[in-house]
Amino acid sequence: MKKYIDLRSDTVTLPTPAMRAAMAQAELGDDVYGEDPTVNRLEQMAAERMGKEAGLFVASGTMGNLVAVLTHCGRGDEVIMGKLGHTFLFEAGGVAALGGVHPHTLPNQPDGSILLEDIRAAVRADNPHFPVSRLVILENTHNRCGGAPLTAEYTRQVASLAGEYGMKLHLDGARIFNAAVALGVSAADLAAPADSVTFCLSKGLCAPVGSVLCGEGGFIAKARRLRKMLGGGMRQAGVLAAAGVVALEEMVDRLAEDHRRARQLASKLAQIPGVSLKHVMPPSNMVFVNLDEQIPMTADQLANRLKNDFQVLVGVVSQKQLRLVTHYWIDDEAVERAVLAFERAL
Ligand SMILES: *Cc1c(COP(=O)(O)O)cnc(C)c1O
Repeated sequence: MKKYIDLRSDTVTLPTPAMRAAMAQAELGDDVYGEDPTVNRLEQMAAERMGKEAGLFVASGTMGNLVAVLTHCGRGDEVIMGKLGHTFLFEAGGVAALGGVHPHTLPNQPDGSILLEDIRAAVRADNPHFPVSRLVILENTHNRCGGAPLTAEYTRQVASLAGEYGMKLHLDGARIFNAAVALGVSAADLAAPADSVTFCLSKGLCAPVGSVLCGEGGFIAKARRLRKMLGGGMRQAGVLAAAGVVALEEMVDRLAEDHRRARQLASKLAQIPGVSLKHVMPPSNMVFVNLDEQIPMTADQLANRLKNDFQVLVGVVSQKQLRLVTHYWIDDEAVERAVLAFERAL
């Protein structure tokens, strides 16, 4: 079954044996009635971890971000986000399609941040020509910026700027626990300045499905209605939430191992001629590999060769860039084999 070394993403992680057992034994009820004890437990645990009043279990990170934006914004409102942000690039345009919310994108710096002066300059004046600036979204860790973590201090500065203009801050913390582990702080510290935060259980934390949106009690009550509207009322969802509980209890601290393996992978790949890395010292669990001009292959062709000849799966980002993500199912030997595959394939 584990024929391939799958470095495409940490979303490919299968549930652990402890998760399978917890799922089989989970106490269940109808979550739309608020009666699933396992979902309730997960939501409470998640809220505590994020330092927020309440949590809402959702089907995916995409749904969590969408529900957050719909809860914060009305139709015609504007949301400020990074050009390289997941919500802008990879969520099927949901905030515009389903929320009538207008995205205002700004450049991301290489560390995933958005310059404070760019945000300030993007805020709309009160004028009938303009949409109303309602929300800022930050992403931590920042996926397209190489898995870079944003500090609590930076997040606080953005929150305070947003507050000056009556705007809210949503944190897309899909990998906020990777950020916390990378920076040696708690996830609650990183989430504290934000009005709302989404994090994924289904990535490095290995749960099969789900994310949790956290925020203040009234916000989550409103978000709960929007989740239902979007078709996200999942009934006996405790069977899924049970894996999420195990994810929070057992899978957070070990993310440091994934980061160590990402550094190991990067330092070895960096020695291969024709290859250069976005970060020779990756900040979290992602390694972005650039192919120099002298390599007579596109990233896509190399990915196919790695797959067909070496059973190594990698993500293709662009013509000349690949992404490799370490996770629970990638051990030291898998790292060695992946490096060897690159050496031979090139
Ligand atoms: C994965 C991810 C999401 C949500 O993804 P889903 O696949 O919908 O769970 C959101 N933001 C970021 C930064 C992500 O990496």
